Amino acid sequence: MTTRARELLAYFESQKSAAVDLLGRLVAIDSPTSDKAGVDRVGALVGEELRAAGARVTIIPQDNAGDVVRATFGPVGGPGVRGAGVSSDGQAAMLLAHLDTVWPRGEAARRPFRIEGPWAYGPGVYDMKAGVVLCVLLARAVSGGVLKPCLPVVCLFSGDEETGSPASRPHVEAEARAARYVLGLEPSNPDGGAKTARKGVGRLVVEVIGVPAHAGIDPEKGVNAIEELSAQILAVKLLEDRAMSTTVNAGLIEGGVARNVVAPRARAELDVRVPSPVEWARIETAVLNLRPRNPGARLRVEAALTHPPMVRSAAIAALYDQARRVARDAGFDLGEGATGGGSDGSYCAALGVPVLDGLGVEGEGAHAESERVRLDRIAPRAALLAGLLERVEGPEPRTRSD
Ligand SMILES: [Zn+2]
Repeated sequence: MTTRARELLAYFESQKSAAVDLLGRLVAIDSPTSDKAGVDRVGALVGEELRAAGARVTIIPQDNAGDVVRATFGPVGGPGVRGAGVSSDGQAAMLLAHLDTVWPRGEAARRPFRIEGPWAYGPGVYDMKAGVVLCVLLARAVSGGVLKPCLPVVCLFSGDEETGSPASRPHVEAEARAARYVLGLEPSNPDGGAKTARKGVGRLVVEVIGVPAHAGIDPEKGVNAIEELSAQILAVKLLEDRAMSTTVNAGLIEGGVARNVVAPRARAELDVRVPSPVEWARIETAVLNLRPRNPGARLRVEAALTHPPMVRSAAIAALYDQARRVARDAGFDLGEGATGGGSDGSYCAALGVPVLDGLGVEGEGAHAESERVRLDRIAPRAALLAGLLERVEGPEPRTRSD
């Protein structure tokens, strides 16, 4: 371990009880994506804590989602950096997090924050309120003069990540365009490793319009939409390619009006995960070219790539190598891996900005009641991020291919 890494680690260890206290306060506030007031309360608390740590905080109001919170700290000025630390042309290091959780209102009362040994439990503790705490710790380290980032640091907190960030996405993308690189504070892989690739997420809707008829008296006059849809779903399922790690899941189905009526309508929604844009193009083309088996049926198909795949580019690999070196200096090995889940990091990566995600605190059970996070890993993860902010300048924006 280097002297500098030891210093940073010792500092963050000294902040542990303050970090756990803040984590408990964040988990105590329910913030399901659908509950704007709850997400805004979390945003207000995070904004307050960051302001108290000397960061410049802007709350970006949203009408139909939790407000986006933006905070900057670290060096101000330098070439291309305008205003109060506002980086506008690729000069900042961006930290990416979200304020919402998948847990409904009342969950924090039902299953309150609790500590058992090295673990903390509670709704959203791992995904990703522990990651939010890391941002505050870093801002405090900067204002305390402990941490000296080489670039201005911009933290962006989205308020609707768990539903694909319909409101936050433009803000995430605008910030990513102005960043040298993005560090995503989403939960790590189960082994603590960073996420250097994410599958793309596609949504398919297949709807069949048939012709209703009495199932007993004149079935030949009907066109059964459920039967047609069943065939179409199997056709789409055959597009799955496990060797390519492309998966198809028929997740929702509805249709029909009564048992003794030839179904006039049926509809299914399918989830598709793809490793690359090429795989998505293959699926999309095939799906848009589906034709009814029964010529009397009408087919309506939608295909949308809701999260682009985050492909492990050379720039992402280089960022990971640097992170691995910094982690080694801090006394641990940082692995890497891919994940099937999309996130705001996917949007940033699609712009050509190097993204290293999964840098949040180690834990397990995201989106499950067993969710928990390792309190003894808060300091090492904060030290890793601090080391990155001190050492990694990232690629020059003009060399980026976007
Ligand atoms: Zn998350």
